[in-house]
Amino acid sequence: MSILYDVVIVGAGPAGSNAAYYLAKEGFSVALLDKDEFPRKKPCGDSFPIGALETLDCKIPNKIIGRRIHGMNLISPREEIHFLYRSRELGYTIAREDLDTFLLQRAINKGAEFFGKAKISKVRVNKINGAYSGLVETTDGTTFTGQVIIGADGCKGVIGRSVGLVAPRKSNEKVIALRGYIYEEQLGMPIEDFLIHPDLIEIYYAINQNGYDWIFPLKDKVNIGTGYFPPRQMSIKKALEIFVKYAFELRKIKLEKQQRLNIIRNLQGSEIFLGGAVDRIATRNVLLAGEAAGLVDPLSGDGVHWALLSGKIAAEKISHAFSDQKPYDLADEYNSTMMTLVMSNMIFARKNLPRIQSQLPLLFDALKFNPSLINYFEGLATNDVNYLKINSDLHLIRKMIIGLRIGLGRLGLIRPSPDCFIPNIKEYFEKKLGQKQLVPKPKETFTH
Ligand SMILES: Cc1cc2nc3c(=O)[nH]c(=O)nc-3n(C[C@H](O)[C@H](O)[C@H](O)COP(=O)(O)OP(=O)(O)OC[C@H]3O[C@@H](n4cnc5c(N)ncnc54)[C@H](O)[C@@H]3O)c2cc1C
Repeated sequence: MSILYDVVIVGAGPAGSNAAYYLAKEGFSVALLDKDEFPRKKPCGDSFPIGALETLDCKIPNKIIGRRIHGMNLISPREEIHFLYRSRELGYTIAREDLDTFLLQRAINKGAEFFGKAKISKVRVNKINGAYSGLVETTDGTTFTGQVIIGADGCKGVIGRSVGLVAPRKSNEKVIALRGYIYEEQLGMPIEDFLIHPDLIEIYYAINQNGYDWIFPLKDKVNIGTGYFPPRQMSIKKALEIFVKYAFELRKIKLEKQQRLNIIRNLQGSEIFLGGAVDRIATRNVLLAGEAAGLVDPLSGDGVHWALLSGKIAAEKISHAFSDQKPYDLADEYNSTMMTLVMSNMIFARKNLPRIQSQLPLLFDALKFNPSLINYFEGLATNDVNYLKINSDLHLIRKMIIGLRIGLGRLGLIRPSPDCFIPNIKEYFEKKLGQKQLVPKPKETFTH
């Protein structure tokens, strides 16, 4: 016989740990299960938008913040740099190993019981005397019973599939992403020289035809990676290797062929379950949260914010369900709140993804000759706007003005603003680095 918990949560990533924290804080008995022990590494770009702080009732400790981020550089297919820089912070980079351990410890400190090395194979929902309960079973046969189950088990989650909320994805629907770290010690140059700007993340649309590449700075290293959408013409490793070659050539760092992936440490990849594919993420007493529910922004690939938010909202809805005497359909309540707050926006973004991918050069021209559009990226980081709001802002007359300015810009009659535009990334690094030719340190002298 397994102990009966109020809530059993499968997966101790940001979604599961945040749900566990808020539930334990309210006095519920919570079992938080994960197949891994913590700290554990998790493939991620490590970016954390400032808006995500609203989902926590605390600050992020200084010691785990890799870097305070003030904006971004977007490198267009024409190798132009469009940048957003703000004096205020628009986010952080935090290695996921550190973020997830912090979030888990916070839940444990409030009273959640954590079970590592508990790989769940299935869940069964029972109805006894009109009340639901859920039984989850680990691969070694241990069982945990909860009045409510939260499936926060990430992109390949078993809970969503067990209860029929999530269908297995076909190979042409799978986005794959791969990341690694390059340490300053190994670069042979200060990280500040390697970056376009030390406090900005860099997102490249310059050479990846089916997605984008990134360089995100942490303290003494950069997170470098590739997100690759179908149809894929090569392996994800090859796609990253091509980006590494490009990024290093820009910075005049000579890399031998065999060094291109060797220079990257802790290479780790994963599928990403992009949002907008499912419109129901709860049934009976089972709620899905985070990436298990496909809550990843289909345009940016950001999922941590939505994982934290869904964990928090799941906890609120469960707390309400336990306290309310009136009839209350937990699954419906959770589903409709998540639809309003997150899923409708993701469904819209997913629907528009193919159009955006095919019109990237035009969209970058819109940015180039309409500098105020860059402000939307600030709004996305702070949570002040979402794609639906941007779409309604850009009504017909504004779209016509944007189109007119693109036309005038292409004729050379208006110029892009130097406050958010650098004409060519190659020339930018030429000037920044002068005649330097750098050679990275060989693998054997390097210990990470
Ligand atoms: C390469 C890459 C780069 C990314 N970059 C960013 C970024 O920069 N910013 C951003 O916001 N998002 C990014 N994302 C997306 C982000 O990582 C996820 O959306 C986020 O981790 C989702 O959090 P989660 O808590 O839902 O799931 P996860 O963080 O995936 O946690 C799920 C947990 O469930 C556990 N688990 C899985 N199966 C089982 C099982 N059967 N039994 C028990 N436990 C199980 C896992 O061990 C894991 O700890 C990136 C993703 C990838 C792959």
